[in-house]
Amino acid sequence: MPSLAVHRRPPARALAMALSLLVLGLSGVALAGSPAAIWGAIKTPSPGAPRAIGDYSGGCLQGGQALPLEGPGYQVMHPGRLRYYGHPALLDFVQRLGAAADAGGHGPLLVGDLAQPRGGRASGGHASHQSGLDVDIWFWHPRAAEKGPLPTGERERLKARSILNGRKGEIRERWKSKVAGTLELTARDRRVERVFVHPIIKRELCERTQGDRAWLRQIRPWYGHDDHFHVRLACPADSPDCTPQDPVGEGDGCDELSWWFDAEAQAERKRERSRYRRKVVGGARWPAQCDALLEQPK
Ligand SMILES: [Zn+2]
Repeated sequence: MPSLAVHRRPPARALAMALSLLVLGLSGVALAGSPAAIWGAIKTPSPGAPRAIGDYSGGCLQGGQALPLEGPGYQVMHPGRLRYYGHPALLDFVQRLGAAADAGGHGPLLVGDLAQPRGGRASGGHASHQSGLDVDIWFWHPRAAEKGPLPTGERERLKARSILNGRKGEIRERWKSKVAGTLELTARDRRVERVFVHPIIKRELCERTQGDRAWLRQIRPWYGHDDHFHVRLACPADSPDCTPQDPVGEGDGCDELSWWFDAEAQAERKRERSRYRRKVVGGARWPAQCDALLEQPK
């Protein structure tokens, strides 16, 4: 088979160049490697005022700040991955939530990924977490974490655990009040736009919530998310280049839950899920403002 190296025709070269730029999602910066490799190689935040730039699934973070690895009511897990950077609004959110969850007897919160030092695409399953406004928080915690911060080795080693009893299709008894209490505190923070949880968790919240149900609107059922919840803040006022999402719909969303449990909708859910997976694999574009962050000293 003739290779491009043998047939150096200009149109083929131009096409290959255009394709590689397309694949990398770049607008002019010549860099090698996958988007995750490019952004994952950066170990320091960029200079400049904190700004969330672009889309949650195609953006970056200027002037990222590091969440202290522990504080009242929370501990950062897997700190060696350097994914504890965010916009200051996100750091403030985590710190307040940790303190409030602790005061409510639900602590401590084990904090998973925020963003990389300059945001961008990370390796692994995430499509989002790119602009410093997303955070994963574990539902589960080991009892040892209640006595104080876990040693670093433990934090690197532990993995999040599901809090669902699969056979019964419900939240395990031990975690019910932590899950419900923490999610209500989360969704009532006005900066929070969406909270992704497993559909079984949303269903239980729908069933047990009395009185004011408005906060349930922010809680969105999504695939996975039985071992952690994913919090997404709205674009902060200081970040004009942050791309907002559509606002969540009216109502508590409990009436839309049946699709997730309907046996007849299973094929549709599968298709939907593979569409999402393709997006996770292919979602690589970032806006031109992010190129400047890649060019700054690292
Ligand atoms: Zn997440």
